[in-house]
Amino acid sequence: MCGIVGYTGNENAAPILLAGLTKLEYRGYDSAGIAVRDLSRDDVAVVKSPGRLLNLIQKTDNGASVPGTCGVGHTRWATHGEPTETNAHPHSSADDDVVGVHNGIIENYQELKEKLLRHGYVFHSETDTEVAVNLVDYYYKKYKIGPIDAIAKAMVRIRGSYALALMFRDLPGEIWVARKDSPMVIGVTENSAFVASDVPAILSYTRQVYYIDNLEMARLTPGHVSFFNLDGDEVFKDLTEITWDAEAAEKGGFEHFMLKEIHEQPRAVRDTLGSYIREGAVDLSATGLTEELLRSLERIYIIGCGSAYHVGVSAKYVLEDMADIPVEVDLASEFRYRDPKIVKNSLVVVISQSGETADTLAALRLAKERGVPVLGIVNVVGSTIARECDYCMYTYAGPEIAVATTKAYSAQLINVYALAIELGRVRGVITEDRCGELISELNALPDKMAKVLENKERIQWFAAKYANARDIFFIGRGVDHAISLEGSLKMKEISYIHSEAYAAGELKHGTISLIEDGTLVIGVLTQNELLEKTVSNMVECKARGAYLMGLTSYGNYNIEDTANFTIYVPKAERHFIGSLAIIPLQLLGYYTGVAKGVDVDKPRNLAKSVTVE
Ligand code: GLU
Repeated sequence: MCGIVGYTGNENAAPILLAGLTKLEYRGYDSAGIAVRDLSRDDVAVVKSPGRLLNLIQKTDNGASVPGTCGVGHTRWATHGEPTETNAHPHSSADDDVVGVHNGIIENYQELKEKLLRHGYVFHSETDTEVAVNLVDYYYKKYKIGPIDAIAKAMVRIRGSYALALMFRDLPGEIWVARKDSPMVIGVTENSAFVASDVPAILSYTRQVYYIDNLEMARLTPGHVSFFNLDGDEVFKDLTEITWDAEAAEKGGFEHFMLKEIHEQPRAVRDTLGSYIREGAVDLSATGLTEELLRSLERIYIIGCGSAYHVGVSAKYVLEDMADIPVEVDLASEFRYRDPKIVKNSLVVVISQSGETADTLAALRLAKERGVPVLGIVNVVGSTIARECDYCMYTYAGPEIAVATTKAYSAQLINVYALAIELGRVRGVITEDRCGELISELNALPDKMAKVLENKERIQWFAAKYANARDIFFIGRGVDHAISLEGSLKMKEISYIHSEAYAAGELKHGTISLIEDGTLVIGVLTQNELLEKTVSNMVECKARGAYLMGLTSYGNYNIEDTANFTIYVPKAERHFIGSLAIIPLQLLGYYTGVAKGVDVDKPRNLAKSVTVE
C-alpha cells in the first residue's frame, strides 16, 4: 500500500532510496527503512525508524552511513502490527539469507506462519511481510532451486496482494521482485535498474519503465531487467516512456487523488474482504470478537461523524434485517454530550477512518466508562481508537489523501456487511446456505464496482451540465436513504453546491416547498420493494418543476418514464447494492467540483482528520 524503492547500479544506493521514498511520502506511511549491501560483502545493512522519513534520513546521515550499491527501501503503512521499529521493513529471513520489503497484505499469513514455525523458523515482528520473506527462504533452501522457482512457489502459496522486492545473500547486485494486485513499476538506465511502487520515486533517474503484470517476477541487475511468469518462463516486455510531470505522476496519472482513490475502491474492498472472509465463511477472529459475545448481544450502538456516520445509517438497515437486532445510530458529537441510555448486553461500534476523530474517541471513552464493550472500525493501524477499543476491525483501504473520503467509506461498509452476516449466522437468523450466498454476493462486489467505474464519462457529462445548480436534493428510502446522505455530503464537500438528503417519505413534510423550476432531484432507487414509493415522490417533485435523475440497477428501465436522466449499476444483493450506488454519486460530486474549478482534494475549511471536537 505504501512505498517501495529499489536500486542496483554503480552509485551509493542509500541516498537514492531515501530520495525515492521522499517522493512517495504523499502515499502516507508510519515508519521507514532501508537495506543496503555491497558487491564485495555478503552481509546486508538494515536501518529502520518509526515515524517520519526524516528520522531515517538523520539516522543514516542521509544515507552516507550505509554504503553499498544495491538496496531496497520502504515506507510502511501498517496493516499487520503496530507502526514500531521492529515491524518496519525491510524484514530478513531467520538467518538473514533473504531480505525484503513488501506493500500489500498477505491474507493467509497466519497459516503460513504456523507452517514455518513448524519448520523451525522464528519471527521477530508481527507483520505478514516477515512471513512472506521467510517463505521464499524456505523454498529456496528446501529445494535448492534458484530464486525464480522459490519465489514462484511462495507466490502460489500466498493469498492476498503484494509488491515484493527481495535481495538474496548469495546473489550480489541483484534485486528480485514479484507482484500481485499492488502497484509496482521498474525503471532502467544503461548501468542501473530501479523498482518502485510508483513512478515519482524514480522519475529523476529515468523515464524508461516497464510495467510488471500480476503474478509476474523480475530480476534486476545494473542496466538490465528480465521478467518471468509463474512457470519460470521468461516474458518479454516493451519499455514505456513516461511523459507526465512529477506532480501528475504522484497521482498515478489521475487528475486528483480523489479520482485515484475512487478508482482504488475495488482493490480496497477486495483487500478488506480478504481479511474477513476465509474459505467461504466470515472469519472475525482477527478482531477478537467471539461467537459467544455476538450471541449475547441485545442491542448495537453505532457511532461516527460525517461519512462514518452514514456508514452507520446503512449498517442499521443491514444489521437489523440480517441479524434481527435493534441498532441505534448516533453522531459522535451528540452521543458524547447526552446521557445515552446504553442497555446491558450491548456493543458500541465506533467508526473512524483516521482512528483519531476527537468526538468519536470521546464517545468510545464514554462507552468504556459505562463498561460497554467497544468495537472500532478503523483504517489506521495503531491509531488511538485502534489502541483503546476492546475489539478492532480494521479496514484495508490504504492511506487516503483526498479530504473527501471514498475508499475508506467503501471499506467500512464491507466491515459492516461482514459483521452483519456473522451476527445473523451465530444468532440463527440466517442459515449457513444463505451465508454462503451472501458471501458470494460480497465477493462479486469488486468486479461490479469496476464495471460502474467504466461508465464514468456519462456522469462527467451530466456533472458539467449541472455544475451551476443552486440546490440539489437526494432522496431515497431504506439503504437508499443512507446512500443519499453520503452522496449529498460528497456534493456539498467538493462542489460547494447546497444539497440535502431526505428520506423520500419526508419530502412532503417540508422540503418539497424548496423545489423550483429546474431544481435537480436525484432519486436513489436500488431497493426494488421501495422503488415505486420513491418514484411517486420524484413525480411529486417533477410536478413542481424538478429535473429528475434516477439511480437504479440494470433492468429497472421503466424509471426512464419518470426520470430525465438515469444511471444504472449492476444488480446486487439488496443490502449490499449501496456499495455500487455510491460510486456514481462520488463521481458526480467529483466532476461537479472539477467543473466548478474547486480544489477537490483540499476543499475549503475542511480537514482530513478531525482531531478537534
Ligand atoms: N502488510 C505489511 C505490513 O503491515 C505491509 C504494509 C504496507 O503496504 O506498507 O507491514
